[in-house]
Amino acid sequence: MKNIIIVGGGAGGLELATELGQKLGKSQKAKITLVDRNPSHLWKPLLHEIATGVLDDNIDEVNYLAQGKRNNFSFHQGSLLGIDKENKQITVSEVKNAQGDVIFPEEKLTYDVLVMAIGSQCNDFGTPGVKENCIFLDDHIQAKHFRHNILTRLFRFSSGIDCPQTNTINIAIVGGGATGVELASELFSMADKLSDYGFAKINGKMLNVTLVEATDRILPVLPEKLSASIHQKLEEMGVKVLTKTMVTKADESGFYPKEGDKIAADMMIWAAGVKAPDFLRDIGGLENSRSNQLVVKPTLQTTRDDSIFAIGDCASCAKPEGGFTPPTAQAAHQMAKLAAKNIISYLNDASMGQFKYKDKGTIISLAHTAQGTVSTVGKSSMIVKGAPAHMIYRMLYRMHQSALYGLIKTFRLIMASRVIRSVRPTLKLD
Ligand SMILES: Cc1cc2nc3c(=O)[nH]c(=O)nc-3n(C[C@H](O)[C@H](O)[C@H](O)COP(=O)(O)OP(=O)(O)OC[C@H]3O[C@@H](n4cnc5c(N)ncnc54)[C@H](O)[C@@H]3O)c2cc1C
Repeated sequence: MKNIIIVGGGAGGLELATELGQKLGKSQKAKITLVDRNPSHLWKPLLHEIATGVLDDNIDEVNYLAQGKRNNFSFHQGSLLGIDKENKQITVSEVKNAQGDVIFPEEKLTYDVLVMAIGSQCNDFGTPGVKENCIFLDDHIQAKHFRHNILTRLFRFSSGIDCPQTNTINIAIVGGGATGVELASELFSMADKLSDYGFAKINGKMLNVTLVEATDRILPVLPEKLSASIHQKLEEMGVKVLTKTMVTKADESGFYPKEGDKIAADMMIWAAGVKAPDFLRDIGGLENSRSNQLVVKPTLQTTRDDSIFAIGDCASCAKPEGGFTPPTAQAAHQMAKLAAKNIISYLNDASMGQFKYKDKGTIISLAHTAQGTVSTVGKSSMIVKGAPAHMIYRMLYRMHQSALYGLIKTFRLIMASRVIRSVRPTLKLD
């Protein structure tokens, strides 16, 4: 029986493991193994909502062992340490529990087909002081850390333990992309909701949020008009938006731009740029892009080894019309679909399909309102706002859930989440 190993159970990898488990694992045509450093999955575009307590991560988390049991794939916990192309083996790290005891030893796993789906992380571009002083939103552990950190600050402020001279908490976010914009707006909603739970002193007015962007406008993926309208909305909420501001250094008290005054901050978040993890550089002698991604052919096979595929943020896939497939959940979902077909063809010596990214548009959520563009294939894009935009914003997540659970269970999950929402606090308070 052929061994297919998928490393990374994120937006792309978990969908692929589920589909291959159903198509090949069930009939024992292949053994599918998913490897991830964490025991469970949380869809990354939800992270800013986890960070601000709007979503409860316990509800949306997917346990890999349970998903594997339902869909005929095995799960192996550990971090990828290396690839031995000649012997078709990967090395997966040992795993320790919170007390430091080893629960799974380091192991070598043998593959016939390997799929790399380990995603990306924020890129600090080597800016001094950023790694040491900033919070990143790369996974749900960091998102939870952010939530605990901001709740602690707000509670201490409310109970009079901390009384900053200015009566405000300074939060600076670097990166005017979707993550930075959505996080900035959710922070105000979070503070306002806390006052509903009896923290009378807390409200959005006590937050001094600065959003810093190096280029001349926020959200460059959106049309200029829409990005200007969101810029204005953020300012109405109270966010100070600084464009054309290049951060050159950070320390524990704030950011230092190339020009202009220091941006003082009690909390600093870095949400600018993405790159694939550094350890991918030269891994197994595979070809890398400048941002460490694995370069793939249109079939999603890596350029130097046909038995190794790469999908999602860690894959550098050129578009036929020029440029590269963007690192988005949309792209990871589309790549997972084609990779499933191509892997089956590869195992059967059949011809494979070519990846063609279909951009379905971008939706930005500003604390319970959403705005964005929706592209219809072959036609020009249109701007949507309000309830329809919010519905489309959630639809991408529903598509992910439906790839994992099927349509009927996804519908039941939507219903269940409505019931849960009616009895739970509107904000995760711990
Ligand atoms: C806050 C935020 C908001 C976003 N919003 C949107 C949005 O609205 N729309 C959109 O299309 N995209 C959005 N994105 C981008 C989107 O989340 C990513 O493009 C998408 O998750 C990429 O999928 P992936 O499968 O490549 O990687 P991921 O989903 O990141 O999954 C990677 C997996 O690999 C695992 N892993 C990493 N390293 C190792 C290792 N060494 N060994 C083993 N396992 C490892 C991780 O634990 C993880 O499970 C957002 C991202 C963020 C951070």
